[in-house]
Amino acid sequence: MIKLHNTLTGKVEEFKPIKAGHVSMYNCGPTVYDHAHIGNLRAFFLADILRRNFEIHGMEVKQVMNITDVGQLSGDGDSGEDKMTKGLKREGKPITMDAMRELASFYTDRFKEDIGSLNILTPHVLPKASEHIEEDIEIIRQLEKKGFTYNTSDGVYFDTSKDQNYGKLGGINKNENEGQARVEANTEKKNQKDFALWKFNKDMGYPSDLGHGFPGWHIECSAMSKAYLGEHFDIHTGGIDLAPIHHNNEIAQSENACGCQMANFWIHNEFVNITGEKMAKSLGNHITIKTLVEKGFSPVAYRYFLLLSHYRTPTNFSWEALEAAENAYKRLKIFFGFVAQQANNDMEGEVNEKYKTEFLEAIENDLNTPEALAIVWKLSKLAGDEVSYKDTLATLLYFDKFLGLNLEQNEYEIKELSDDIQKLLNERAVARETRDWAKADELRQEIESKGYKIKDSDAGQSVERA
Ligand code: AMP
Ligand code: ZN
Repeated sequence: MIKLHNTLTGKVEEFKPIKAGHVSMYNCGPTVYDHAHIGNLRAFFLADILRRNFEIHGMEVKQVMNITDVGQLSGDGDSGEDKMTKGLKREGKPITMDAMRELASFYTDRFKEDIGSLNILTPHVLPKASEHIEEDIEIIRQLEKKGFTYNTSDGVYFDTSKDQNYGKLGGINKNENEGQARVEANTEKKNQKDFALWKFNKDMGYPSDLGHGFPGWHIECSAMSKAYLGEHFDIHTGGIDLAPIHHNNEIAQSENACGCQMANFWIHNEFVNITGEKMAKSLGNHITIKTLVEKGFSPVAYRYFLLLSHYRTPTNFSWEALEAAENAYKRLKIFFGFVAQQANNDMEGEVNEKYKTEFLEAIENDLNTPEALAIVWKLSKLAGDEVSYKDTLATLLYFDKFLGLNLEQNEYEIKELSDDIQKLLNERAVARETRDWAKADELRQEIESKGYKIKDSDAGQSVERA
């Protein structure tokens, strides 16, 4: 039974799909005005592990992640600068629709490279906001007919006072104090919570009988989710910062337009923090995959780092923590290589039922990835003993369908050592990983008695002839 935390109810609930065996999922995607940072990537990683969890359970997922290439203002309010325009200015490009398209296309490609480098599966549909303007207008017209909109001098607004259920996801008051109310200079709005569905702009944007201009960011997600998944679908995801305003506004638009529930489950990831603060472009403390690679890290080591914490717990990024994650990741890969060697690369072993059950229970329990990794190490400890090498290999490969750690690609060197020394070394690596220090010491003595000296470092253990 798959259980997931639903922000809508504040509870961990059993997940029951609308259509048996199928899952429809919408993920708020990137705004393509700059490189994604590794905090953003946690949101896309959540989408990926959700999908892999359903797929490993034999369910068919339809995953849609939008590309915001127009209409998102800086901040959650209605009066900040458009992020794409900000990107054009930063790069010294002309402020034209053509230049905006070019900028979006460049950063969409970078985004695809970034998610690929973390083994985040490419969503089935990556719709562009700029290609769904008609659908935005259609929903705005529906809302207009039902009396939910009004015009000001700068746009068409949603009237939150007409919506009895506004703010279902919670968090509204918090943001009224901290965000929206502070940035609003718009005195024409009837209510500070009201938000723009369409912003007028005579120089840029799209022709429409609403007035020349741009769709609001929130309406884009309502339109694209409806276009690909219908008005009622299973899951909607995003970072926790999107819940109070962006997601409450999406719900207000979609549910009032259709008169039905939008998504059954709303799932949000907590932040990646750095030195105690949220990682954000606006704070200038963000790190990209490019920087990580320049420093010599494997992007998949960052995936391992993300797996080490539960998605609803804030995680503190530091270079030391990433290094520790990379070391553990390397040890796991080297260990996998050793198991493959011992099993003569025979991939036809059987997945061990006991460990499979434990692993599935961990991920079924609201994606408990730290627990899932602990089970991987627990199994590794028993390889060649309680579980044969061949079956360990099959089981690790099975786990990797969810973990996405590329275990079968072995880029880390396995030294030419005799099998028995290599075996003892690997057992010791596992003992160290599982903090079984007594066992690690015992193995050290055994290796030394065979004429080798071991050196331990943060990067793992190395041996040389004594
Ligand atoms: P953006 O490209 O700015 O629209 O953000 C893309 C996704 O990243 C959204 O789901 C955000 O909620 C999420 N996000 C932004 N900053 C962080 C962070 N520091 N940690 C985790 N997720 C974040
Ligand atoms: Zn969205």
